Amino acid sequence: QSGQLVSLNPATGEVLGRYPVFDSRKIQTCIAQAQERFQEYRWIPFAQRAAWMERVAEILLERKAEFGRLITLEMGKTLASAIAEVEKSAWVCRYYAETAAGFLAEQLVASDASCSGIRYQPLGVILAVMPWNFPFWQVFRCAAPALMAGNTLLLKHASNVPQSALCLEAIFREAGFPQGVFQTLLISAAQVAEVVADERVRGAALTGSEAAGSSLARLAGQHLKKTVLELGGSDPFIVLPSADLEAAVSTAVTARLISNGQSCIAAKRFIVHSTIAESFTAALVERFRQLKVGDPLDPQTEVGPLATPSILQEVDGQVQALVQAGAKVWVGGSPLGGNFYLPTVLSGIPAEHPVAQQEVFGPVALLFEVPDLEAAIRLANSTPFGLGASAWTTDPNEQERLLMEIEAGSVFINGLVKSDPRLPFGGIKRSGYGRELSREGILEFVNIKTFWVK
Ligand code: NDP
Repeated sequence: QSGQLVSLNPATGEVLGRYPVFDSRKIQTCIAQAQERFQEYRWIPFAQRAAWMERVAEILLERKAEFGRLITLEMGKTLASAIAEVEKSAWVCRYYAETAAGFLAEQLVASDASCSGIRYQPLGVILAVMPWNFPFWQVFRCAAPALMAGNTLLLKHASNVPQSALCLEAIFREAGFPQGVFQTLLISAAQVAEVVADERVRGAALTGSEAAGSSLARLAGQHLKKTVLELGGSDPFIVLPSADLEAAVSTAVTARLISNGQSCIAAKRFIVHSTIAESFTAALVERFRQLKVGDPLDPQTEVGPLATPSILQEVDGQVQALVQAGAKVWVGGSPLGGNFYLPTVLSGIPAEHPVAQQEVFGPVALLFEVPDLEAAIRLANSTPFGLGASAWTTDPNEQERLLMEIEAGSVFINGLVKSDPRLPFGGIKRSGYGRELSREGILEFVNIKTFWVK
C-alpha cells in the first residue's frame, strides 16, 4: 500500500507534515511485536503497570500546553478545549492506574467445587480504531483500561491526525511501558481488514461513524473477534417548563459546540416545550450570534474550523437540505470561508426529514417545539441513535419518566452529557454497543475466566 497521511492545519490549510503509510511487512512486524510483548507484559504486576500509567498522566500534565497546541493545529478545536482534553486524558490514566487491580481482583463464588470463582485475564493484542475529534482522549479512554488489564494495543488513528498518533506512542514509551505494548500503525482504513483478520489480534474497539463501525463489525464477525463500537449520536436536549432556563440555555450552547460541534455526545436536537420555546429560542439565538469564530489558537475564539473540508461539505449539505424543506434560519446557515462554518440555529424542521435522523457534525442546532412530555420523549426516541440525552426539569416525576423512557446509553438531568472515567459510556441502537470507562469498560477486553477446583 503506497500513500501518505497528511497532517494539515484546518484553520489555515497549511501542511504540517507528511507520513508514509505502513506497508504490509511493517504491519506484520508490529503485530508480531505486540503479540510477543503480550506474552511478557501480561505477567507484569498491576503495581508496575500502574506506575507506568501514572507516569503517562504526569507527562500529559507536565506538557499539556505542548500537546494541546498539537491537537489544535491538527484538528482545529480551541486551544483551551485541547488543553482540557489533555488534562482529562491524564485523569483516565490515573483512574485506571488506581482502580484496575480492584476491578480485576479474583472473585470467589461458592459452588459444588472446593474452590471456585472468577479470574480476569487479558485477551492479547487489541486494535483501537480512533477518530480525530478527541485525538488524545478517545485513545486514552481505550488504552488506559486495555493496558492496565494486561493487553497490548495497536492504534489505527484517523488519517488526518498522524502527528497526534505518533506523539501518543512516544508518550507511552517515555513513561516506561515496554516497546510493543502500545504501537501506532500509520495505516489507511482499508488496511484495517488485514489487522482484524490476523489471528494474533483478539479484539477491536472503534469510535467513529456508523459506516466505519459497521464495516469493522462485519470484518470482526467474519473472524469472530470481540468488538466495542462507539458510533454517532443525535443526542436530544429536552427543556421543560420547570427548568432553570438560563442554565439550560448556557449549557445548550456549550453542549452543541463541544469540539466545534464535532462530538458524538454534543447535543444536536433541542426539544423545547411550547410554553418556553419562544424565550429559549431567543436566548439561544442571541448567544449563537455573539459567538467568536476564528483562529483556534486565539484565546478569544469560541468556535474554530471544522476538521476537514469533507466534514464542512457534509454539514452544509445537511443545512441546505433542511432549509429547502422549509426550515427557518435564525442565525448562520452558511460557510464562512476556509473550513469555518457559521454557528447556526434552525427551527421548523419536519421531524421525519432524513437530516433530522442523521448526526449533524458541526455547530448547528436543530430546534423542535413540543406540546408535552410525551411528545418530547417520542421525538427524542425517534432517531436510529441512542447515545446520550440531556433533559431539563425540576419535577421529580418528569425526571423519573425521562430516566426510564429515553432510549440512550446515558441520560443526564439538568446537566451536560459528558464522559467521566467513573461512569460507563456507550450507546444503544445505531450508536453502537459495549461500554467504555468505569468497571464495565475494563471488563470488555478481558477473559472472564471461571475456575473450579475440587
Ligand atoms: P470515520 O468514521 O470514517 O473515521 C473514524 C475512524 O474510523 C478513523 O480512524 C477512520 O480511518 C476509520 N475508518 C473509516 N472507515 C473505516 C472502515 N471501513 N474500516 C475501518 N476503519 C475505518 O469518520 P469521518 O472522519 O469520515 O467522519 C464522518 C462522520 O462520522 C462525521 O461527520 C460524524 O458524523 C461521524 N463521526 C462520529 C464520531 C463520533 O465520535 N461519534 C467521530 C468521527 C466521525 P480514516 O481516517 O483513515 O478513514
